[in-house]
Amino acid sequence: MTSITELRDTLISLLPPPDDGSGRAVCERLDELRVMRNVLDHQIAVHIALLEALGAAARAGSTTRSWLIDMGMPPGVAQRGARIAAGLGSLPKVADCAAEGYLAAECVDAVVRGIALIDKQAAAALSDDDRSEFESELLAQAFSGATPAEIASDARGIAIRGVEEDPDTVAAADDASLNSVHTRVTDEGRVAITADVTAVIGEKFLTMIDERSCPRPEPDGAEDRRDVAQRRADGLELLLDQAAIGAAMTTAGAPRTQVLVTIPADGADPARLPWVGAVSTSTTRRLSCDGGVAEIVLDNEGVPLRMGTTKRLFPHHLRQAIIVRDVCCVKCGAPAAHTQVHHVVHWADGGPTDLDNGCLLCQRCHTQVHHHGWSVVMGPDRHPWLIPPVDIDPRRLPRPSYNRRTMRLDDVLV
Ligand SMILES: [Zn+2]
Ligand SMILES: [Zn+2]
Repeated sequence: MTSITELRDTLISLLPPPDDGSGRAVCERLDELRVMRNVLDHQIAVHIALLEALGAAARAGSTTRSWLIDMGMPPGVAQRGARIAAGLGSLPKVADCAAEGYLAAECVDAVVRGIALIDKQAAAALSDDDRSEFESELLAQAFSGATPAEIASDARGIAIRGVEEDPDTVAAADDASLNSVHTRVTDEGRVAITADVTAVIGEKFLTMIDERSCPRPEPDGAEDRRDVAQRRADGLELLLDQAAIGAAMTTAGAPRTQVLVTIPADGADPARLPWVGAVSTSTTRRLSCDGGVAEIVLDNEGVPLRMGTTKRLFPHHLRQAIIVRDVCCVKCGAPAAHTQVHHVVHWADGGPTDLDNGCLLCQRCHTQVHHHGWSVVMGPDRHPWLIPPVDIDPRRLPRPSYNRRTMRLDDVLV
């Protein structure tokens, strides 16, 4: 019998198949390799199950999963292998197909997890007949070309069916008692948020975030430089700002204050936010551009000296005038409802709160102006112009605001 070392050497020295240029031979080879990978993954699961049955890791005071990671398996792969190993014993049809290489480990895992979910949600333990029926149903899905996510969704459907037959149980997807939101301030002063919520809350969140995180072109016409996760984070901030406005409207015109920033009068210590603590000067400046922040200046003893809000906030009529001039975010074109009014010359540097010193910026572009080197200047045409940072345009040529993108600076200088 060929040893595994000989098999490995054969694979290492595998030559590409001769191909007529159509790619057919390469495709055939890839398909063979795919099946081989499936067979290998199944063999790994079988051996993990064997190791677990021997109880060797437990006797050494460890777990099989830790042993696999110590061996060099990435944690996710070790976790999946251990899960499949534990689940396959009661799923003989899936095990047979996996052994022959017909199923990828990801699909086997989806079926194993699906059956575990159905099991967990069922009011009583699954009978052998029921388990076999659900196994066949999910296996049929896998063979019809369903992705692991689709198999998981199908399993949830079966689980819900089971729950609905029993009025006393609640599906995990609907069980509000399992909900949790955890927040943690990191050593760098960032905030890590994790949430585990019902399907309905999750759907609301995804819908609201999706609406607010579509890509927008950069002022130079390039594609949005943010990745999906960054766009979602920007969408989350916008959502929170809009929620604060909505909350103020429902509390009969109470001031829209969502964040309180305290600033030591002598400037010796950084400004602070109540939840996350010390923040940088540029963050303080960006926050104070926005009407949703109350600033309190403290004396040496921590006693409030003054609340600085009235002079720097753009009143409604001025905001309306700026909307008429700018129409949308001057940098990316986000709708006016998504924008804040930015002071071109910051109010702390003596910048007035008037039409010629305010421009519309969405949350994300506002951050780029205060933190990432973008500047706004008021042009001789009394419209705002944007100056990119050096790493985007070494010449730092001014660009017109979004609603005037077809213009060039020469048009207004002559
Ligand atoms: Zn913008
Ligand atoms: Zn600003």
